[in-house]
Amino acid sequence: MIRGLRQIEPYVAGTQPAEKDIIKLNTNENAYGASPRVRKALSAFKADDLRRYSTLDQAKLRTALAENLGVRPEQLIIANGSDDVLSIAFLAFFNNPEPVLFPDLTYGFYKVWADLYQVPYEEIPLADDFTIKTEDYLRDNGGIILTNPNAPTGIYKPLAEIETILKANPETVVVVDEAYINFGGQSALSLLKDYDNLVIIRTFSKDAALAGLRVGYAIANPELIAVMTAVKHSINPYSVDLLAEALATAAVEDWDYYQNNAQRIQQTRNWFSQQLRALDFEVLPSKTNFVLTKPAGISAKDLFEVLQSRKIYVRYFPKVKRIKDYLRISIGKAEEMEKVIETIKELKG
Ligand SMILES: *Cc1c(COP(=O)(O)O)cnc(C)c1O
Repeated sequence: MIRGLRQIEPYVAGTQPAEKDIIKLNTNENAYGASPRVRKALSAFKADDLRRYSTLDQAKLRTALAENLGVRPEQLIIANGSDDVLSIAFLAFFNNPEPVLFPDLTYGFYKVWADLYQVPYEEIPLADDFTIKTEDYLRDNGGIILTNPNAPTGIYKPLAEIETILKANPETVVVVDEAYINFGGQSALSLLKDYDNLVIIRTFSKDAALAGLRVGYAIANPELIAVMTAVKHSINPYSVDLLAEALATAAVEDWDYYQNNAQRIQQTRNWFSQQLRALDFEVLPSKTNFVLTKPAGISAKDLFEVLQSRKIYVRYFPKVKRIKDYLRISIGKAEEMEKVIETIKELKG
């Protein structure tokens, strides 16, 4: 028997099928590709430059982002995807004896990091309508982490309610994961000047169509960013590679392109939601690039399997009790979503 082995129930990510001719709506990727500047930066990138280690501070990317967001570069830290940023945040901020609070239905990774890092936590049930109840977060805690809009529900929590939570917890860090904020919600950025305990975490994976590049960032006051930087430099200081920094910087410089695509995705989402409702599906109100829907006239499991047999991949969570009868469907291009609706109509006869 070998001693000292870690036992952990890992996060289960959506599958990445090797086939090419599929409609992939299972991991909330962006169906619109890279911007012109990103393409140019990729072809201009010199392979020989990779002989050097990457930068330690991503000054170029942070300067571009700071300008884009209206903050100072010292308010930003970049890491290897927002999963890396979130993992750093757990280590940096959640070192209290009281439990860290997060909803029972949210990004499934929070629980995994809490277990891995032995952070005490409490999962707080969402209301019956799947909203986050503000009053549940106005009590003693070792920190709070919320996704806004929430995943996998897609439901946006109004900024005034986020502010109520920030105001009630001046001594613990409140992390707001804004992976989907550019699909219709209002960012907590405007609250940064008034709340030193706020940390916003964002990713280039969803709105910037760069999931495979692995770039994410946090925005907070410089003191909290310094704590995160110390943790980052205690794990993997060079975690943001040179190509990632170059291409993410180009994406920021082409932000109009991504904003336009985010607009299109929102239009497609609203159309798709209406179509599903017309078929009697329950659809939660989404401000993200996906919808959580409960099929009518066919079970979630059967629909998931039939869609997959037709090379349409969506996400099904049979083990998550509250949503075992639901499917999470990412919003792709309009023609892809039309195909999904046609397929469902055909199944329902
Ligand atoms: C996709 C997602 C992430 C992870 O993003 P990466 O930058 O690709 O690691 C984090 N949080 C939420 C809520 C997400 O949906």
